[in-house]
Amino acid sequence: MIVAMQAEATEEQIQQVIERLIQTGFNVHRTTGSLQTILAGVGSPSRFDPKDFELLAGVGDVVRISAPYKLAGKSFRPEGTVVEFSNGVKVGGNQVVVMAGPCSVESREQILTSARQVKAAGAQFLRGGAFKPRSSPYSFQGMGLEGLKLLREVGDETGLLIVSEVMEISQIPVMMPYVDLFQVGARNMQNFNLLRELGVVKKPVLLKRGIAATIEELLLSAEYILSGGNYGVILCERGIRTFETYTRNTMDISAIPVIKKLSHLPILGDPSHGTGRREQVGPMARAAVAAGCDGLLIEVHPNPDKAFSDGAQSLFPEQFSQLMSELRLIATAVNRKMQ
Ligand code: PEP
Ligand code: MN
Repeated sequence: MIVAMQAEATEEQIQQVIERLIQTGFNVHRTTGSLQTILAGVGSPSRFDPKDFELLAGVGDVVRISAPYKLAGKSFRPEGTVVEFSNGVKVGGNQVVVMAGPCSVESREQILTSARQVKAAGAQFLRGGAFKPRSSPYSFQGMGLEGLKLLREVGDETGLLIVSEVMEISQIPVMMPYVDLFQVGARNMQNFNLLRELGVVKKPVLLKRGIAATIEELLLSAEYILSGGNYGVILCERGIRTFETYTRNTMDISAIPVIKKLSHLPILGDPSHGTGRREQVGPMARAAVAAGCDGLLIEVHPNPDKAFSDGAQSLFPEQFSQLMSELRLIATAVNRKMQ
């Protein structure tokens, strides 16, 4: 249940409503927008009447939420969530942000060159996997801690924020000093123990849609993180598995406006995994911005033909730079800003 307080509600009135929600058997999550405070009562108390809350002083609206996700739903934060990073970069605001870099960190030279190239083209985040979830156990599994250290070093040198994938709970404390954003990959979208643990860390999480996950399942996975008190969740559409075989996955562009309607969380598009083919990355990136995404996750490699992973879908640096110029035009056309 969502209780939207009146704009002029006092702190005392807010506290009274919180107490009442707790007495009724709810866990309370509070969010303060520019207009009003919103209280979400989460849980399933056996008996309660929303009217009891409507009558309390300072209460504006009481809405019973029928969707299975409560905190990920739009009514918890009607104005939308903006996730802010240490250097002032905001995801979910007017700006379309870009996270770019290679699929995997391979060497100091490779990641430093990548960082300089994506920074010059206008990206705000450097992406790069240090722990890689590979379909085959014989494929390159990532550089691990050494890769994380390289990411941090080149991130600091270039002023880029760092996003990298966390695959299991034990990696959270290891990664904590090195990343600005934890990425949960498609294969781990329903690793509920990992999600719960990320709910109590003080760092934002990029949650990618699973290869066979519905939008509702994606929002329920986000709910696991939010319910622990970590409201810094960014979603990502990265393609789903369909009967089509020409592309690696089918990039569900329609998920972007649907999620914008259902949720307050920012949503990114990943046209690299969404298509698996370099020549399709640009068109899908342009479509994602036109459809209203808050940012993009794009694989770029200084030498894609020699990449340890996902070379076929990685852009050459010049292609990325050209794409960024095109994206700026599209962002302007849909009233968004891009660096
Ligand atoms: C990645 O971003 O390199 C990755 C492994 O993505 P996904 O989890 O979407 O396959
Ligand atoms: Mn990849």
